This record gives sequence, C-alpha cells and structure tokens, in this order.
Amino acid sequence: METVEPVGGWRIRKSGLVGGLILAAGLLAVGAFFIPASSWVGLGEANAAMAATPAPIDGKRAFGYLETICAIGPRIAGSEANAKQRQMAAEHFRAAGAKVREQAFEGVHPLDGGKVQMANLIASWHPERTRRVLIGVHYDTRPHADEETAPARQRLPFLGANDGAAGVALLMEIANHLTDLKTSWGVDLVLFDGEELVYGRHPNTQGQYFLGSKEFARAYVEEQDRGKPDYQYEAGIVLDMIGGKDLHLPQEPNSLNLAYNLVRDVWSVARQINARSFKVKVGREVMDDHLALNNAGIPSIDIIDFDYPFWHKADDLPKNCSADSLAEVGRVVTAWLARPQRRGRR
Ligand SMILES: [Zn+2]
Repeated sequence: METVEPVGGWRIRKSGLVGGLILAAGLLAVGAFFIPASSWVGLGEANAAMAATPAPIDGKRAFGYLETICAIGPRIAGSEANAKQRQMAAEHFRAAGAKVREQAFEGVHPLDGGKVQMANLIASWHPERTRRVLIGVHYDTRPHADEETAPARQRLPFLGANDGAAGVALLMEIANHLTDLKTSWGVDLVLFDGEELVYGRHPNTQGQYFLGSKEFARAYVEEQDRGKPDYQYEAGIVLDMIGGKDLHLPQEPNSLNLAYNLVRDVWSVARQINARSFKVKVGREVMDDHLALNNAGIPSIDIIDFDYPFWHKADDLPKNCSADSLAEVGRVVTAWLARPQRRGRR
C-alpha cells in the first residue's frame, strides 16, 4: 500500500518493502518494453568495466564554502543575502574558468502579492560545445523552519546548511576541477532560485515550488522552438541535500521513471569508485527541480538524501553536515562527467 502525503509541499510516497518491490518489478517491465523518446542513453552496464576516474575533490574546501555561505545568513529568494550569495558564486565560477550568465525572472510574493526579483545562475565550461549536460542545485533557502513543531523554534533563522548551501558549495568545489577534467561534454553548473519560496505547509495558498527550474525549462524550450540554441542538453543531474552526515542516496522513483538509464549510469559509476552512500534501492518519491527539466525534454535525475533528520528544521546547520559526504558526491559526479559517453537518443 502506498500513501502520498504532503510534507511541506514535497509529495512523498512512502513505499513499504512490498510496494518498493512491486515498483522495482514494474520499472523493470517498463524498461524492457518502453524507452521514452527523450530518454538518456548512456553506456550502461555493458561498459561498466570502463574506468571511472573522479576529480581530486577536496571535501574540506567544499565544507569551507558551505560555512561561508551559511555565514551570509538565510538566503530567501528575493533577499539581499540571496543576491550576495549569487554574486559570490558567480565570481568563483568566473575565476574557475566559466562563462557565467544570470537568467533573471520575476515572481509574486506569496504573502503580500509584491514582486520578487529572482535569478538563476548558469556557469558554462566549454561553451562552444553543442552536446551539453547540466548539474543543478537550488540556492535559495526556505523562509522558515516549518518542520519544527514549537512556534519558538519555527521563528529561529533557517540557514539551510544542507538544504541549500551544500549543493552550492559542492558545485563551487566541482568548478575548481572542470577546466582540467577530461569530459567530452559542455558542462553547465546551474544555481536555481526560488525552489521553495513557500510559507507554511500549504503550498497552494502560501507559495510555489521550483520557480527557478521552471523558468530555466521555459526559456530552454522557447529557444529550442525558435530554432535556437544550437546546443542541446543530453542529461541533467539535480543535487539536493547531499551534505548531511550518514549520507543515504537511494534511487528516487521519479528519476527512475523519467531517466532510468541515467540513474543506472550514475549509480554504476558510484559502485565503481566505491561511493557507499549511493544505495541501489528505490527511495521515496520526491518532487524537485528535476521534474521541470524532464518536462523540457532533458532526461534528469535527483540525487537526494531525504533521510536527513534536520530537513526544514532550525538545526539544518553546518555542524550537521560532513566534508566526506560532499566529497563523495563530488567524486561520483566528476567521474560520471569524465566517463566516455555516446550521444543520447532523442
Ligand atoms: Zn527544502
């Protein structure tokens, strides 16, 4: 039996063991007979023996970035702190050799109806390459620690060390290696704004999710429809809450449904480099920025630890994050980027 319950707007399907097995069996059956037109087609198991070589990711340095970001304070969409973080990241990416652009857009504040200025940040390596992949994270933080039950704790500042800063910090560390990394792709590191400009636990009345990734997807589809751009994204990886201690990264059901082969590729790389936080089992269904990317025809997955005990709590702090977790995910992502690929089917 499965239940879908709204948890701060993330619809989570809790699958029991039986449900998980049925789902896994169903996916196998679907995978055998049906490959979506936009499905990622990587090398898969047949080439699993091909060596995966990660970049020399420095977990301590990544953790330092995480602390620097948290020191800015809460980084809610539309806030000065949010813009400050974006500028800091842009400078870092430029210094690391990227061509950087902002994708500005406007939203409506869910409480007072005022305008909210937001912006995604896109840092591109090898901008001339037409075959591209994107690694995306959200950089805004939730306005309040909604999962706290005591009102006094709900009023504490929500720093989002894992739910926000960890993803940005890891992209900053990955950026340090992208000029030297041997990859055949153009690589875009993307910071999404407005992932959760949401107040309270009733998303229909108090805000919307995924504003940044929806804008990114809308703009990409519009460019494609106009015959521009001449590049295409062949895959997308969204990282969310990948910096907690005791990291658990099962395979997320929407990712399995929408980009099965990409999940298989990434977890295959993880196995090769002995990244033990990547679990070959079906996790909980999560609505996240990968859904908008899939809607735009970019096969995309979400790598997320939804067992993090401080999710949307005041204690989502650096002390509950881990340099080793950041390093492990960074090693898997860079090893996957450096792995020889063939063109995805469209
Ligand atoms: Zn969140």
